[in-house]
Amino acid sequence: MAKIPVAVIPGDGIGPEVVAATVPVLVAAAAREGATLAITEYDWGAERYLRTGAAMPADGPDQVRSARAALFGAVGHPGVPDHELVWGLIIRLRQALDLAVNLRPVRSWPGVSTPLRDAEGTDILIVRENTEGEYTGVGGRVRPGADAEIALEVAVHSRAVIARAARYAFDAARARRGHLALVTKSNAMRHGYTLWDAVVDEVAADYPDVRYERVLVDAMAARLVQRPRSLDVLLASNLFGDILSDLAAVLAGGLGMAPSGNVLPGQSPGVFESVHGSAPDIAGRGIANPVACLLSGAMLLDHVGLPGAAEAVRTAVGAALADPANHTPDLGGAGTTTTLAGAVLAALPDAPVPAVTATGGNGQS
Ligand code: ATP
Repeated sequence: MAKIPVAVIPGDGIGPEVVAATVPVLVAAAAREGATLAITEYDWGAERYLRTGAAMPADGPDQVRSARAALFGAVGHPGVPDHELVWGLIIRLRQALDLAVNLRPVRSWPGVSTPLRDAEGTDILIVRENTEGEYTGVGGRVRPGADAEIALEVAVHSRAVIARAARYAFDAARARRGHLALVTKSNAMRHGYTLWDAVVDEVAADYPDVRYERVLVDAMAARLVQRPRSLDVLLASNLFGDILSDLAAVLAGGLGMAPSGNVLPGQSPGVFESVHGSAPDIAGRGIANPVACLLSGAMLLDHVGLPGAAEAVRTAVGAALADPANHTPDLGGAGTTTTLAGAVLAALPDAPVPAVTATGGNGQS
């Protein structure tokens, strides 16, 4: 049996609850394909921060690098400033591993109601550039407190980084329904986004089989609501991808349903995580929806070369969601994290259910 090293970082709040519900499903789905997930669990997050002053040890990224992929729960704690945990853990991992592309698939699920009257058949992959744009921290504030105070937030866009995200997105479109929409605001922002247009036009020339269009971000916000089925792959900058993917996730059923992955095209490891945070308002009550984590886990299985196992997880999620008795409270039901995940496990076709053996990582150092 092939052994695939996988890092698991449950984190805080509902993170450990949804991760504990997900891991047995991933292990069982991999076993269907004759593969064993060799899981190393790390105790990184707020508790560790409170104990040691650091959410993750200094060599944390190196420890994750020895795995093929990582499953991440959530970070956040009412007693710890958000930026300490987010920058000290998940953003540090993204930066240290140079995870250039953020993937956010969004689809509707039969049986799950959404704010849209007619969202059925929505199936979109948002490919978000993950390292630059408006989120580089370049800029500053001068004359603090004065009426004349000013702030500069400088967006950074570079040809090679745009091209790298574009190639990933075109490859994904080619493997899906062959349509790619580039989202910019090049009519009003004449430097960075005209570079996006030019670079993505060049990359598009290598993919004549992919139908390619450019859509301004404001028009795309309207189209996501009015005609979500007209979309396949969206390619967007860091800022626009961030905003549109939350809009799309809610349209398709809410934060509890939204998975994501951070990858460096062609490289290991990828880090896969629910879009939602630690949800302290429901943590410890056993009612968190595990679907976002389960679907992030399916993306992890794709990433480590087990597409059959990934598809089996998605099929089983669909089967479990089709029965409203399994729905957690965010979906309007009375189900729990474990009953919904248990229904997914039971729906895996011909799934043997091996025991999960977790070993402690060096997270204590
Ligand atoms: P954090 O500070 O960690 O970002 P947050 O509560 O500000 O936490 P989220 O964790 O994303 O942000 O939660 C936003 C809202 O969505 C909360 O009301 C939360 O209960 C709900 N929510 C998020 N994830 C889930 C889930 N998996 N199942 C059910 N409800 C969820």
